[in-house]
Amino acid sequence: MCYAIPAKLIAIDGQTGTVDYFGEKRKILVDLDDLEIGDYVYAQGGVLVRKIPAAEAEEILKHWHDIFFELKKTDAALATIDQTKLSSNALHVLQKVNLRKSLTQDEMLALYELSDVQELKVLYEIANNVRQREHGNASCVHGIIEFSNYCSGNCHYCGIRKDRKLLRYRMSVDEIIATAKQAVDEYGFKALVLQSGEDFWYDDEKLITIVKAIRQMGVLVFVSIGLRSRETYRKLYEAGARAALLRFETSNKDIFAKLRPGTSLANRIQLIKDLQAMGYVLATGFIIGLPGETISDLVQNILLTKYLSPDMYSFGPLIPTDATPLGDAPKVNKDLVLKTIAISRFVDSNSNILVTTALETLDFSAKRAALLAGANSLMIDITPQYYRELYKIYDNKVDIPKEIGQNIAETVKLLYDLGRAPTDIGI
Ligand code: SAH
Repeated sequence: MCYAIPAKLIAIDGQTGTVDYFGEKRKILVDLDDLEIGDYVYAQGGVLVRKIPAAEAEEILKHWHDIFFELKKTDAALATIDQTKLSSNALHVLQKVNLRKSLTQDEMLALYELSDVQELKVLYEIANNVRQREHGNASCVHGIIEFSNYCSGNCHYCGIRKDRKLLRYRMSVDEIIATAKQAVDEYGFKALVLQSGEDFWYDDEKLITIVKAIRQMGVLVFVSIGLRSRETYRKLYEAGARAALLRFETSNKDIFAKLRPGTSLANRIQLIKDLQAMGYVLATGFIIGLPGETISDLVQNILLTKYLSPDMYSFGPLIPTDATPLGDAPKVNKDLVLKTIAISRFVDSNSNILVTTALETLDFSAKRAALLAGANSLMIDITPQYYRELYKIYDNKVDIPKEIGQNIAETVKLLYDLGRAPTDIGI
């Protein structure tokens, strides 16, 4: 099983390099020493993570060659647009998108207000077309290890908030490293996200041990550990972590203050900016459908994400969760999420947009729909099954009952059906 196609390094210019996948070029960050032009490497999330022996790479590339060009054909066929179904108003906005002109906030609102099934279909088709124009058929699949559900925070939406009665667990340092090793050796992952509640049992020393060990496996280490000190994040960067996932959750500061007691939007945004300044590849975004939010807030959420210029957009619907203050909030409509993906794709055409598990929890077929509405990256939960059941940031997570192998097989099949290849997405 292989989650990345080997690339050939064809140029190095300081910290930046260019790699080639069957003639397609991507820019990446060069994060290894001892490299020469002509080396074969794996890149993930725009970062060169591992060098591989030429013989091994050539063998894998031989296997991929025909498949790669087949996938491209499938992807191109799925990225066509039927504009005849569009009202003149929506057509005007979407023509601007095609001309690479930026949309006004009113135009974004107008897209959010589309409700006709045919119009929505075309909206998603155009977003998929823009994705294809910007990224070809590149896709990125990360594994996520949810290593602790202890949390000192009390966020109103979150199912692992401190005040919720829940069986709590912590994976030991050795268990986390062993889970990562299996993901890399057995399943072929080249990028791993380490996620948890805000759990200070993991002090700097423990986190550094984990990050160092996983980085040495030749993968991109992503951290998603919430509000921790700059010092901790700086040390983790030094230990080899290269990407961080930290959502601002909502751009509406009043809603933020209400839903995240004891924290402020300004501080969270400052931390996001600081992580980026430290050199982290950044994934950020928001929750869709928080009570009190309007469509204008959603437009502001997209614009704030763009302003932060992340390497990856990460947003998903609120899943109302029992015994949390938002347990009775209304269920979010799938099209609201798909529209958010499509509009984000228009506003920041070159962005990478993740499909999150929350969206799949909302609607089983949504992963496919999201990939066809502008999204281009996925995560697979590789937390050991007995812990996965307890990592209840929301209830009824879809992939809980699935074996990791089955989940991977289904994801790869979906990507093949849609003509997506695991070339890296570049920077
Ligand atoms: N403690 C880390 C990781 C949190 S979990 C942090 O604070 O960054 C990752 C994300 O799950 C959160 O950022 C939040 O956006 C999302 N989340 C939490 N509860 C949710 C819910 N009930 N529905 C949907 N998303 C939720």
